[in-house]
Amino acid sequence: MQKKQGLSEITGFDEITPTAAISAERHGGRAKCLQRLIRLDMPVPRTLALDFDAVHALSAGDMPDLDAMLALFGPDPLVSVRPSSQDPDWGGPGAILNIGMNDALHARLAASHGEPAANALYLRFIQSFAVHVARLDADEFETVAIPTAEALQRALAAYEAETDERFPQDPKRQLGEVLRSMARAWEGTTARLLREAKGAPADAGLGLVVQKMALGVGNGLSGSGVIQFVDGSTGQREIRGRYMCQAQGRDALTAKEDEGAILYLAADARGRSIEQVLPGVWDDLMRYGDLARRRLREEMQIEFAVENERLFILDAVRVPRNSRANLRIAVALAKDGIISEDEAVLRVPPRSLPELLHSQVDPEGAREVIARGIPASPGGATGKIVFSSRAAQAMAAQDEPSILVRRETTPEDIRGMHAARAVLTERGGVTSHAAVIARGLGLPCVVGVSDMALDLRAGTMTLPNGRVLREGDVITIDGTRGHAISGAAPMLAPALGENFSTLLAWADAARDIGVRANADTPEDARKARMFEAEGIGLARTEHMFFAEDRLLAMREMIFADDAEDRRSILDRILPMQRADFIELFSIMHDRPVTIRLFDLPLHEFLPQGREGLRELAEALDLPLSDVTRRAEALSEFNPMLGMRGVRLGLTVPEIYDMQARAIFEALVDVAQSGGAVVPEIMIPLVSARREVEIVKARIDAVAAAVRVERGAAFDYRLGVMVETPRAALRAGEIAPYTAFLSFGTNDLTQMTYGLSRDDAGRFMSQYVNQGVYDEDPFHVLDPDGVGELLTIGAERGRAANPGVTLSVCGEHGGNPESIAFCRAAGFDYVSCSPFRVPVARLAAAHLAI
Ligand code: PEP
Ligand code: MG
Repeated sequence: MQKKQGLSEITGFDEITPTAAISAERHGGRAKCLQRLIRLDMPVPRTLALDFDAVHALSAGDMPDLDAMLALFGPDPLVSVRPSSQDPDWGGPGAILNIGMNDALHARLAASHGEPAANALYLRFIQSFAVHVARLDADEFETVAIPTAEALQRALAAYEAETDERFPQDPKRQLGEVLRSMARAWEGTTARLLREAKGAPADAGLGLVVQKMALGVGNGLSGSGVIQFVDGSTGQREIRGRYMCQAQGRDALTAKEDEGAILYLAADARGRSIEQVLPGVWDDLMRYGDLARRRLREEMQIEFAVENERLFILDAVRVPRNSRANLRIAVALAKDGIISEDEAVLRVPPRSLPELLHSQVDPEGAREVIARGIPASPGGATGKIVFSSRAAQAMAAQDEPSILVRRETTPEDIRGMHAARAVLTERGGVTSHAAVIARGLGLPCVVGVSDMALDLRAGTMTLPNGRVLREGDVITIDGTRGHAISGAAPMLAPALGENFSTLLAWADAARDIGVRANADTPEDARKARMFEAEGIGLARTEHMFFAEDRLLAMREMIFADDAEDRRSILDRILPMQRADFIELFSIMHDRPVTIRLFDLPLHEFLPQGREGLRELAEALDLPLSDVTRRAEALSEFNPMLGMRGVRLGLTVPEIYDMQARAIFEALVDVAQSGGAVVPEIMIPLVSARREVEIVKARIDAVAAAVRVERGAAFDYRLGVMVETPRAALRAGEIAPYTAFLSFGTNDLTQMTYGLSRDDAGRFMSQYVNQGVYDEDPFHVLDPDGVGELLTIGAERGRAANPGVTLSVCGEHGGNPESIAFCRAAGFDYVSCSPFRVPVARLAAAHLAI
């Protein structure tokens, strides 16, 4: 070991032997992987590694000892150079093969291996050297189908014409220039930006691997191929790959079907197969494949060459794969005892799950992006454009998929959103109405597409390039990437299944922070159970009134202007709410259900436009002028800071009384049929202790009354939503009144920044692009400002009431970075829309392992 290090200090490289001090951190992943293959006794041609320092020095002109390097490969060596970055995903310059080819060697190889083989080797090298090292115009050095002597002479002449010198004949100079050009390519700006986009640090190093060539051309069944033992798009175990005679590198993969020299791998594939023709090589490949899987603990793609029927293993990389294949591979490796369950969990990035939960626009497929916005709810869907909920419903009635395009959505659009396959809005950000509802429904959604011009009257949507789309035109929404795409884009189906639930069960065993779901409807609650949420962390009761037959009742309640009218409408709403809660409690069995009392931003519930007012006047049997006057009286300049949440509860206390009664009566009914829910009642938009005191006293009184009326004993937990900065700061005086504090980070972000959650989408991308904000704070919790309020609220709340449960129920609850923050701050659970529950479960496990 010592000696090797000494050698490297003198020569600038290390030979990769079983005992050499090779590490991924110093020499890169490829060098380390090759050492593992060598340790497993695979027939890897002699290989040398240059470490990051040596390559860095190279780019500054400091050459390693090339004579010593070439001497190690014997007389007249041909070698290849490949990049070896720390993480293979960070990429690097392409491999260069056949370094060492020159006129003299060409003549000798023509005699020993035949002229076509010698031509092919030389031509390949001239082409790569000219284009990648000498940086000559690639058009002058096009690949030729048949490597004739004329083609070779043309390439040599082209090189000379372009450079005014003969193609370099000295192997030492060839190798030196290849090494230097690869080192410099790594330092170039484009390469740096590309790898930084893949998560590489700014100072990521490059190693280089120099390997003796196994020729793959010449006598007998020489050739090269690539083999792997799983399918990279499904993760199923099956043999994939190709072998091609008289070929080098990865030629077999790109060769056209009709190029005669292809040999398929296994005997059951069509055509001649390597299994039939080279059974010894085949057996060895099977053995090495199995060994690599067990000992490298990964599914590997193996590049190999056959020279005179002798197998060489040249390289191995992790099988390139999509998210679904990655999940299946991780679970299979753990089930086969090759990796631990925890490791399988760590191998699946939480961000890859949404791709499995929804249909996706195929990322590899062709797409003509016609508009871009904020990706608000993942998944992909194709349908005909509609500009109104009514049209979406009409399309659904005919089983026609539609895409609902709106300026923004309001509760009136819920029916349309249910009927449509995806939603596109001109306005809004990640916590706008459309975004929140679409995520709850699992509907692909793109919001804040501010450069499209909607003309709802004319039924047109004009794109930035002037193209006009009309109702009925087919588009595809990619909610994962924030694209609207022309026509029907190719799709990938969702991939839930046994592997998915197995992996998440392993994640649950590892994690130490709870995950609940935000669920308002029985359908949401069923989804919450399906995704194995531990309970409901937020049931927004006003959302229970979005359905057409309910919306009117809600409006009547808002419009009632005397106590008597209100009592009669509340009497009608009570049984509806009771039925809602009975259903939620029944679905959730014994799991906790947190019910938030009404938080009605009035503008969301007031009718829109003259038509809406007329419909309401009709339903209420009032003159239009009365309804209009009342709507005007109720309208607010700043509705998100207006008569919302507990403010309505305090000023019209009968409303919360009705809800509390509905909850308790439902509880008694469900308990009689064996249910055991302990409901949690949550007060929204609190800013002062006294609000809590007043509401608590009334709810306690309702509970006492229901206990007496129904002759039943029951418990409930009362909690407060911390959504205003003041509630966070005053958590110490609020906490003694409550069993839990649930941080509503949507409103808390809105109020901390003074940013409208519905309008900030218009300029958010500019803010992020200019580095004003690192991320959209509605998407990823701002750890500094909003986070400080969370920490203060949690500390003061816990100090005043050590038993208080702490949670986050804003949209951030499903975001991995935000979950990390909550876990570090000692929160008990996060709650997020049902479709994000699996992401949260997995992200929480990653934090705990
Ligand atoms: C919040 O403000 O974070 C919250 C969960 O409530 P809503 O989104 O309903 O305002
Ligand atoms: Mg809120």
